[in-house]
Amino acid sequence: MITIALSKGRIYDETAPLLKSAGIVARDDPERSRKLILRTNRADVRLLIVRATDVPTYVQYGAADLGVAGKDVLDENGGQGLYQPLDLGIARCRMVVAVPAGFDYRRAVRQGARLRVATKYVQTAREHFAAKGVHVDLIKLYGSMELAPLTGLADAIVDLVDTGNTLRANRLKAVEEIAPVSARLIVNQAALKVKRAAIQPLLEAFARAAR
Ligand code: AMP
Repeated sequence: MITIALSKGRIYDETAPLLKSAGIVARDDPERSRKLILRTNRADVRLLIVRATDVPTYVQYGAADLGVAGKDVLDENGGQGLYQPLDLGIARCRMVVAVPAGFDYRRAVRQGARLRVATKYVQTAREHFAAKGVHVDLIKLYGSMELAPLTGLADAIVDLVDTGNTLRANRLKAVEEIAPVSARLIVNQAALKVKRAAIQPLLEAFARAAR
């Protein structure tokens, strides 16, 4: 049995066509079904529907052989012990620093101000500001980061941006790009050795489809 972990929403929607070109089609739609284990047209392949941040954990411990996870999640939670053979080029976005439209970020940084930064991506933010030599107090949030600068909780946020609509709607602007983000295929290293005959053709099909 080959088990593939992935999250609902954009990752699932954009992985489904890649799976299809590898000959794998889920028997249920995760948006409609409450099932967390989805059977596929192939008796030897199943999908696990887990939280995006849990995908690396399932693959690390071998509860899933393969997974699809955003680079944001892998950078933040550590991709240790995982083989990352492929950038799938899906779920693309950017990790950025954003501030209220009227806030002079460059000046604040130049003056060595201590910035309060709210984010879900504490590790990523810490590394980014440390590399720039900017002093920050990091405030961990679990969602709706855009609210933090509007309520005085923080001066800036670190968050993912795609179209920029969410930032614009909240009168925020991106002032720095930390990294481009896309989803990666991750593989359990032991599974790759033990189940190579079954996994290798899948990796090749993914690589062809992701091009
Ligand atoms: P947008 O309004 O298109 O810039 O999208 C921004 C919102 O969508 C933010 O709340 C982000 O956290 C979220 N978002 C955008 N792209 C992604 C992605 N690839 N993965 C997860 N969340 C994303």
